[in-house]
Amino acid sequence: MRRLYSHLSESTTSTSSQSNSWFNSREVVRDLNVNLSFCSLNKLNCFIRPQKDRLSNLQKKNVIYKINCRDCDASYVGQTKRTLKTRVKEHKNDIRKSDGNLSVLSEHRLELNHEFDWDDVEVVDSERWLYRRRITEMLHIKLQNNGLNLQSDTDFLHHSYLSILNNLH
Ligand SMILES: [Zn+2]
Repeated sequence: MRRLYSHLSESTTSTSSQSNSWFNSREVVRDLNVNLSFCSLNKLNCFIRPQKDRLSNLQKKNVIYKINCRDCDASYVGQTKRTLKTRVKEHKNDIRKSDGNLSVLSEHRLELNHEFDWDDVEVVDSERWLYRRRITEMLHIKLQNNGLNLQSDTDFLHHSYLSILNNLH
């Protein structure tokens, strides 16, 4: 599987000569954002597809995952450096709590009486480095048709990413 973030960053190779540390630098991130505008939309689209390998997905680490509602097109995107199994378990435990601050998943369940497809959580991407994983997570949050993620989950995402993503829809 080619990864979304790696593909996006290919178009910046010529300008980010700081190479290895570019993802730590704000300036280079700005370059990346600008250069993304030239990324081929069709090519990008090819790399945005979920994996279907359900059993081994749960054992994977450093992933961006998507939890789908069984009863409507709502979904939630998150990322974790731990195994997907561990993170999904946490989500399930959160949902059992019915008091205090409800998660967006709990709210959706309680308001609409819907249930999530816990047995088929998708792995939509993987990135070993936290920074890349967060950017990739934000891209996939924005790619949802009916995302339950909070607005604040994508505050950091540069507007030039958004123009590309809007064209993908
Ligand atoms: Zn739903």
